[in-house]
Amino acid sequence: MRQNDLTEAQKQAFEQNEADFRNLDDHVRDIRETARARLTANGWEPDSNDTRPCFSCPCPDLQVAAQGKCQRGGCHHPIYDHDLPR
Ligand SMILES: [Zn+2]
Ligand SMILES: [Zn+2]
Repeated sequence: MRQNDLTEAQKQAFEQNEADFRNLDDHVRDIRETARARLTANGWEPDSNDTRPCFSCPCPDLQVAAQGKCQRGGCHHPIYDHDLPR
């Protein structure tokens, strides 16, 4: 279906969906800040200068696999568990 075939209701549905996904962005960002603080409080400094470390395991840098997960050995966490650039 092409963009200009959308009904008003369908356009609104897309807009609402997009807004919900942006909420998710904010939520993930909050969770990440909490995750970082928790690690730092326990003496673990995630080094995210030019790496994207995982907050769910000691994975030092995200290695993206096709399925949207990290393919680094022992990690396999989703991309959003990692410290992505803000
Ligand atoms: Zn990882
Ligand atoms: Zn991980």
